[in-house]
Amino acid sequence: MIDFIYKLKWYFSEHKMKYLLIVVLAVISNFMEVIPPQLIGRTIDLINTGDMTIGTMWLIFLLFIAVIISTYLLLYSWFYMLFGSAYDIESILRMRLMQKFLTLSPSFYERNKTGDLMAKATNDMRSINRAMGFGLITLLDASTFLLTIILVMAFTINLELTFYALLPLPLLIIIEVYLGRMISKRHTESQKSFGVMNDAALEVVEGVRLTRSYVQEEAEAASFKGKTKDYLDRFMKVEKLDALFQPLTIFVVSLSFIIAFGYGAVLVNEGEMTVGEVVTFNIYLNMLIWPMFAMGMLFNIMQRGNASLNRVEEVLQTEDDVVDTGDSIVESSEIDFEHVSFSYPASSRQNLDGVTIHLKAGDTLGIVGKTGSGKTTLIRQLLKMYPAGTGSLIIDGINITRLNKKELRQRIGYVSQENILFSRTVKDNILFGNPGASDDELDRAIEVSALDSDLALMQKGLQTMVGEKGVALSGGQKQRISIARSLIKDPEILIFDDALSAVDAKTEQQIIDNIKRERKEKTTIIVTHRLSAVRHADVIVVLEDGRIAETGSHDELVKSDGWYRRQNQYYETGGEEND
Ligand code: ADP
Repeated sequence: MIDFIYKLKWYFSEHKMKYLLIVVLAVISNFMEVIPPQLIGRTIDLINTGDMTIGTMWLIFLLFIAVIISTYLLLYSWFYMLFGSAYDIESILRMRLMQKFLTLSPSFYERNKTGDLMAKATNDMRSINRAMGFGLITLLDASTFLLTIILVMAFTINLELTFYALLPLPLLIIIEVYLGRMISKRHTESQKSFGVMNDAALEVVEGVRLTRSYVQEEAEAASFKGKTKDYLDRFMKVEKLDALFQPLTIFVVSLSFIIAFGYGAVLVNEGEMTVGEVVTFNIYLNMLIWPMFAMGMLFNIMQRGNASLNRVEEVLQTEDDVVDTGDSIVESSEIDFEHVSFSYPASSRQNLDGVTIHLKAGDTLGIVGKTGSGKTTLIRQLLKMYPAGTGSLIIDGINITRLNKKELRQRIGYVSQENILFSRTVKDNILFGNPGASDDELDRAIEVSALDSDLALMQKGLQTMVGEKGVALSGGQKQRISIARSLIKDPEILIFDDALSAVDAKTEQQIIDNIKRERKEKTTIIVTHRLSAVRHADVIVVLEDGRIAETGSHDELVKSDGWYRRQNQYYETGGEEND
């Protein structure tokens, strides 16, 4: 509990005055709450002794109303402030988490499952909120209230009776601490199971087309049912214990009632106490149920909150493995790979091995090779997606390790294999590359990416909605929208990572001719399976197991005896490419 509060001390110190006010209001409201039972006791005694007059009755009545209303207002204000802060901190933490998600490099997403990350942004945030809101209210209310009532019972009514009546309470504390520990253990298991279920739900939704085409709906449903049942079982185990808290509290406090009434009667008989005092005493005992019950839950809520905060902090404290030191700016687009070697954090072998390539500004580089030969890995080094390997990668005379990631990416247009489009209009998807682009620039990007004929066929043209809410686009159309998106940026370096795989040969040629014309001064890198896409390139490299196996222009490569030539022959004779 202290751990939890300590970790969030930055928030408390930012809002010192507010929390001070909350504590003051809490203490005052607790004192106010002990007044009505006193009034009731006094009234009974006044009636008993026959001293009650109409005047006193009115006075007591008005006092009663005044106390109840002001207690209500006080409680309302500090509850409101605490609950408000709980939502405030939840939103601050969620924003920080999102910012972190947006900056972390791909290797983080390889280590963490999406379902679990989503659980952190939702379920864990709720636990933190509960600990900050309900938890702190309980802590403040229960502890100050408990203390106030016990002190008032002992010093305004009867010390001895208070002592005996409270004897059963330590028993309750022991049981609650024990129960709390068991609950916390079961809660962790249930959260784990929730993560698994979350991941499964995500997979079912993402893979729904595949599942249908393989007619695996029933098997998938059965497997998901198993996971839901597991979560339900574990959750019910927690709830079973949780549900014990209140009846147990009531049971133990009932023991106190028996003592209070029994021994209270004796004290009244002996003339040590009045009937009114016994009644007041019992009302106080009744008021103890809530803070006692709350104390038991408090342990539980704070522990859950702390566990969740730890999970969230773990992400927040993740250092990006791609360090950003420099702030130099790339002005032109000369690229030199000098003996670049690299292996993925999760890989046991070299995924790039001594790659050396020199590109002048305006050059077109073609990268070909079998699947898994390292083509995408090479591009990822250029984009600074992973930590740098050995050797040096120099852009515009500056080593990439000294380049600022954001600045670098602003100068690169990258079209990846997966064409990720947002559920927005075609126009918005293209303008994503450069939101400030003029209509002319938009038209040019559309023309160069050969998207114009497709747009003419779409009912709403550029205003056509993409994705879930709109039309289903073909793979080729998606690719060309992605290409237009990268072209509108007019980047110093343009990279196509198998970005032409779904367009037909004629359109491919058209796009390549357009790009050659438009990007005379700027560097273009084309990664491809189809040799036709790089035939025109100034330099072509053939990768094999992360190494450069061949390099040269198309004409040079077809003359030498290697993979490129064989592949080209296959292609020319109309055969399919073989990997
Ligand atoms: P290509 O683009 O030529 O098909 P890649 O560059 O994607 O090939 O992959 C090169 C090699 O690196 C492959 O052996 C692949 O299994 C491995 N690899 C790719 N991505 C990762 C990763 N994130 N972690 C570990 N190994 C990877």
